[in-house]
Amino acid sequence: MANGTLTVTPARRLARQLRLRHGLEQAAAGRRVWPTPGFVSWPTLIEQLFTEGRHFGGPALRWLGANESGLVWERIIRDDPVVAGLIGVRGLGPLAQRSWRLLHDYAIPLEALSDEGGPESEAFARWSHRFARWLRDHDRVDLATAAGLIDPQSITSPFQFVGFDSLTPQQEGFISRLRAAGVAVEVVAQPRRQASIHRVQCRDAAAEYDAAARWAAALVDEDPDRQVAIVIPDLNHVRAQVRRAFDAVFLPLASRGGGPAPESYGYELAAARPLLEAPMVASACDCLAAFCHPADRDTAQRLLDDVYLGADAEASQRATLSLTIARRSLSLITMRVLEQEARGAGCPDFSAALCSALAEQSIWPERAAPSAWARSFSLLLKHMHWAQGRLDSTEYQTRERFLELLAELGGMDDVMGPIQASLALSTLHDLAGNVQFEAEEIRARVLVIDPETCAGMQFDGMWVCGLEATRWPAPAVVDPLLPLPLQTRYQIEGSTAESAARRSRRTLQRLCAAADEVFLSIPLFEGDAQLLPSALLQGVPECAELEQQWHSDAPDVHLFNARPTLIQRTDRWLPPVSGKERQRGGASVLELQSSCPFRAGAELRLGARALPGRPRGIDALTRGKLLHSVVADLWQRLRDSRTLVALTEDERISWIGEAIEGRILPLRDGAPPVLQHLLNLEASWLRRELLQIVQQDARRPPFAVADVEVSKTMSLGGLELELRIDRIDRLDDDMLAVIDYKTGSEVRVTAWLQERPKLPQLPLYVHALGASGVAIVAFARVRSGASGLLGLGREDRGIAGIATTPPRQRDFVWSEMVEQWYPRLETIAMEYAAGDARLAPEPAQACRYCHLAGLCRINEARPALGAEEDGTDD
Ligand code: SF4
Repeated sequence: MANGTLTVTPARRLARQLRLRHGLEQAAAGRRVWPTPGFVSWPTLIEQLFTEGRHFGGPALRWLGANESGLVWERIIRDDPVVAGLIGVRGLGPLAQRSWRLLHDYAIPLEALSDEGGPESEAFARWSHRFARWLRDHDRVDLATAAGLIDPQSITSPFQFVGFDSLTPQQEGFISRLRAAGVAVEVVAQPRRQASIHRVQCRDAAAEYDAAARWAAALVDEDPDRQVAIVIPDLNHVRAQVRRAFDAVFLPLASRGGGPAPESYGYELAAARPLLEAPMVASACDCLAAFCHPADRDTAQRLLDDVYLGADAEASQRATLSLTIARRSLSLITMRVLEQEARGAGCPDFSAALCSALAEQSIWPERAAPSAWARSFSLLLKHMHWAQGRLDSTEYQTRERFLELLAELGGMDDVMGPIQASLALSTLHDLAGNVQFEAEEIRARVLVIDPETCAGMQFDGMWVCGLEATRWPAPAVVDPLLPLPLQTRYQIEGSTAESAARRSRRTLQRLCAAADEVFLSIPLFEGDAQLLPSALLQGVPECAELEQQWHSDAPDVHLFNARPTLIQRTDRWLPPVSGKERQRGGASVLELQSSCPFRAGAELRLGARALPGRPRGIDALTRGKLLHSVVADLWQRLRDSRTLVALTEDERISWIGEAIEGRILPLRDGAPPVLQHLLNLEASWLRRELLQIVQQDARRPPFAVADVEVSKTMSLGGLELELRIDRIDRLDDDMLAVIDYKTGSEVRVTAWLQERPKLPQLPLYVHALGASGVAIVAFARVRSGASGLLGLGREDRGIAGIATTPPRQRDFVWSEMVEQWYPRLETIAMEYAAGDARLAPEPAQACRYCHLAGLCRINEARPALGAEEDGTDD
């Protein structure tokens, strides 16, 4: 390297690793300064050489970056009249771009495309000719076409190619031309270490990751200077699973305590994700969207909650304002209004930031070139103080990459022409979704990486996962747009079973020679399916006991065993309900107490509430209120079944419609168009479902509606309960039918038979009205496709949905059920009055729709409650 040799690698990561290693070696040799040699990846080399070559008389073409090129492909495909209207072009753009690269990598002439292949290949041939013409017409060059245009005479420094498993014909041609021009080029073979190689069997992929992480941790524990690699095929797809397994070993306190994982320096996961998934980038896109589109309550809340906007000092006031806004009903909130509210809520800095951003936005033109939008977006983010606080290394790199992306947007003037702000933003959004980004982490000794990216790297120890027969050798992968005969003829790697097998064998040989100690692990099961070891492992000795050894020696186990003893104290009581305490909740006191005493106490006595969510459409409370008021209005007008029977079906529909209109009108008043539309949908749904119930009512024996939405007070177990009964019908023998309207799906009459009745409203109403006078208890279920009565009757009166025996209850006796209700309900009421606030006796059912898990910490308490018995997992 002393003579200025430029090192070329297949990917950026290896270039970075070699640069680092070179620096460490120089420092270890006692040098304080040294010339910096060049390490570049192949794509960077081509771009650099082409750009520099222009200054030495090379072709005067401008560089077309990958993102710009993607847009051009997308546009060409969208404009193709043959595919227009038939398929979505979004996924096709990147596919065509990849095939175009392949075409040039393997030096396949464009003309060859037209000869063979089906309609996909014909389409690709058309697009490729148009793309080539577009490049010519706009004096542009891209990565695929640039290598052939570089003049070797303009190159003076020697080259070495490192880490290439194999060279493509384009790379071989490039090297030959360089050599012919007298440039020294060396293709360096990977040093082959004499590794000790073992194979290990693990139960499944999760066990593999766990064993590999423990092995790596033990190795680095012994000698912190060791460099260790864990190689996982398809790492991007199993990224989350791998991260969990490695966090459990390298960040034991975070994973065992259930807390957030801090930034890890213990290991590095070399799996790039779309840049858009980085919270900071999502924050920038959200912020810009708030100024490009009409803002609503959700947008306002997101800006207030965003940690990357504004200073920390106002975080608490902003959170309070966000909560206040969340509690409002659906409405639009402009940035101007938000600015004023922020000022009034003690957030002067945030308000000032919004003020400057609005001033910036006010001078935006209707249409402008992407470069102008890139400048405007960047200024607006600056006004909003986006990402200006203290950033850690990952955040810093993320911000820089996003700013680069903005600059790339700015370079798309001749690709896109003048556009509106919203299109500029959606292009930026798409770019951030397409760019794979991974922050550089140089402190970690353990690198988790995929087999392709680690080509050319050297380690002290390596563990390769997933060596099962279906993956090694890998199956053939055929490019979908290039004609298959062409792929075979030009020997595109991996396109036939033989070449895929050859590549797998070569990759495994390379991996086995890249470290002093190599473990090859095989998962034995995937789900319940048994897997076979790869045939490539023949002759590799097995190592059976090691997994156990790493397990017990792992640092997280030591840490966990050395934890301080926790003193556990369970306090399941609130103070008893006193006479002075305001009684809240009515029948829901017993409903909540029955399924979870803690929830009843926390919600009704301590006032615990869920943070307001972001309801999509009409929220459940509004729906419930609307239903009950409509039913009350309808039956106050109808009064009895005789009137109902006298109406034609059209008249019934019209009566229901009028009742709905009367109640929905105030909700429509001042509502934004989207909500108005949703209310219309709700009205037509309610009309349809209520008609089902009304038609069923019309087929019943005669009855009169005695009361709707009637209030009753009932003393039970020391509580004064305020009840509100939806509907009471008087039957022809003067007995009563008590009806409760429900919109949810969870209505079962068997819920009334349990020791702790699950839906105790109707049993309560029966006793409040006098049990001897009630002949029917029923839910009126309002649910798409299943609306109607569902209940029990003292005797059979021929009413659909009203049974005399609940399902699977042969020995059922109505009077016994009604008699049992009182003591059961009284016991539950007494529990509540005494302050009993235990956690749910049956968490699997009770916790499913409960928002208080963060308060009651049921998940921490589950082992003690025997979570394994409830048949659920986490
Ligand atoms: S999450 Fe479960 S245990 Fe906790 S309050 Fe809710 S229902 Fe009760």
